Amino acid sequence: MDWSGIDMPALERELAALRREFHRYPESGWTEFRTTARIIEELEQLGLDVRYGQAIHVPQQRYGLPSAEKLEDCWQRAHAETKRHDLLETMRGGYTGCLAVIEGEQSGPTVAIRVDIDCNEVEEDRDAAHRPAAEGFRSEHTGCMHACGHDAHIALGIGVAKLLCAQRHLLRGRVLLLFQPAEEGLRGAASFAAAGHLQDCDRLFGLHVGLMDTPVGTVAASCRGFLASSKFDVTFHGVAAHAALAPEQGRNALAAAATAALQLLDIPARADGLCRVNVGTLHAGSGRNVIPAKAVMQVETRGATTEINAFAEAEAARICEAAAKQYGCTCETVFMGSAGTAVCDAPLVEQVLRILPAVEGVETVLPEVELAIGEDITTLMAAVQAHGGQATELVVGMPLPTPHHNGSFDVDERVLGIGARCLAALALHAR
Ligand SMILES: [Zn+2]
Repeated sequence: MDWSGIDMPALERELAALRREFHRYPESGWTEFRTTARIIEELEQLGLDVRYGQAIHVPQQRYGLPSAEKLEDCWQRAHAETKRHDLLETMRGGYTGCLAVIEGEQSGPTVAIRVDIDCNEVEEDRDAAHRPAAEGFRSEHTGCMHACGHDAHIALGIGVAKLLCAQRHLLRGRVLLLFQPAEEGLRGAASFAAAGHLQDCDRLFGLHVGLMDTPVGTVAASCRGFLASSKFDVTFHGVAAHAALAPEQGRNALAAAATAALQLLDIPARADGLCRVNVGTLHAGSGRNVIPAKAVMQVETRGATTEINAFAEAEAARICEAAAKQYGCTCETVFMGSAGTAVCDAPLVEQVLRILPAVEGVETVLPEVELAIGEDITTLMAAVQAHGGQATELVVGMPLPTPHHNGSFDVDERVLGIGARCLAALALHAR
């Protein structure tokens, strides 16, 4: 790989500093206000035309938005953490994330690269054995932490922009860089897909750090076993009444929800693949002597295929309706997020297997790694594959002393340079 003219050690130091900065100010899905502003600043310094705010979203397709109060609190918080109030103005109400196009000097395909930018709702460890705590870049935001490595994804995404801007004379076609909000809970990709950003895209690459406990230098060219999943909140509405004086006038929403919960857990297994349903929370009622008028539960379904997940979701809807009816209640379902399963395209994976061994820092390239998680890159993959484009998700391995989404999760910063070089090399050389 020819990176002549690029001071790679300096770039790696810069990416590590950026990763630490993003780590220090983590923001959860749809509240990535400071994060997005910082990304825009970095991209604009490269002379890139960056798009952001309402213009890049389809408002109704932003799933699982936090409450208006939370959006506003986080937005206010961001004002104290950036001078770019002009940028924040465009994102108010949860219009986070951004995208930029890098035009090559020669003609060729359109390659999209997607990184996710949100954090987890996890409290970060304070222990001195936890490097961010020991070295002064522990989260400043209570209850928020980059515990899935998306801070590394942002930094290496900026690294890709820096590498490609320096190599523009070699770039054939154009590269679309997507900094996607709200990946956690599978909430953010739908809005980007619905906005049509991937309409003309020939190739799509995603990347996740970790996920494989390996020495640094191991990269997987694709993932297998993305689970399709849907998340939704079901609210049962009944009628409150005095539990002793007029119980017959009440309609018991708690009874309807409890019945539904038990029935949901009984959705049958499938012969053709994994099928999972979980009722994660159930909150109901207002007082001991009142017939409960309201119950809310958080439900998720998962399936080995998009069809199995759709089956579980449809069964869940039927069961909730029936249980509501049984108790004279009504129910409404609010969709909070979803992703289908997806298959990485074999011809593209073959190209990745050919290109990556020449990338500095890459020692072993695996054809694929098995996942058993949902990742909403699948929504973007489907958008690209729908018009004949190809897509794959890479995994850049590193040692994992603690699991993802844990308060002492940490990133081996060597993956920053490796990840950035891999994605830049694919943008330059995949056809
Ligand atoms: Zn993640």
